[in-house]
Amino acid sequence: MKEFYSIAVDGPSGAGKSSLARRCAAAFGFIYVDTGAIYRSVGLAAYRKGIDRKDPEAVAAMLPELRINMAYDEKGEQRMYLNGEDVSREIRQPHISLCASEVSAIPQVRAYLLEMQRKFARENNVIMDGRDIGTVVLPDAQLKIFLTASPEARAQRRMLELKEKGMEQSYETVLEEIIERDRQDTQRETAPLREAEDAVRVDTSDINFEESFNLLCSVISEKLHIEKAEDKK
Ligand code: C5P
Repeated sequence: MKEFYSIAVDGPSGAGKSSLARRCAAAFGFIYVDTGAIYRSVGLAAYRKGIDRKDPEAVAAMLPELRINMAYDEKGEQRMYLNGEDVSREIRQPHISLCASEVSAIPQVRAYLLEMQRKFARENNVIMDGRDIGTVVLPDAQLKIFLTASPEARAQRRMLELKEKGMEQSYETVLEEIIERDRQDTQRETAPLREAEDAVRVDTSDINFEESFNLLCSVISEKLHIEKAEDKK
């Protein structure tokens, strides 16, 4: 059986995980898997149905009715489908972030999504980002990266990102939302956000995107003994 490479990227929201993991995946010819998008899809489903997202039984009862699919479009962008509907844009709304964080604290939700994530890693070279990829989903990943930055730096970046998407929010609101999500994500009982013992820690508070990207590429090249696709030419 062919063995595939798995790179786990974990860290708090807004540390730049998705943009950096996406860019690294493109550079090395890997598939980028944004696991937050899967939790967001469950959060959106619960929101739409008006289900109390803090009630584990109610949320768990909804799961068998859901069809959540992940697919890649012609540009290689991950798309999320909820019961056949493309919800890739809708799941990015700020209120859905909190819904995702709430449902992701429910053990039944995590168990339900676990195999879907593992299957992807069994069949592809992946860079997978999330909160518990290195600790729970892919404990045998060849490389684990813990990407972090101060709450203030993350809020600043998230604010700009939302602005670009036409979803403007004040710095204070974004910072508050980040602190609340950090609290929820690190204090929950099931699969809390924590750094794997064997993870390489990368703090991006004081370095820009390009510097972070170059740093990650050198960590990947060094640990996995692989070159960027463009360097091979
Ligand atoms: O990464 P993103 O901000 O899109 O994730 C949304 C929420 O989903 C996070 O706040 C977190 O609570 C949850 N999540 C998780 N485990 C993952 C990915 C995301 O609990 N692997």
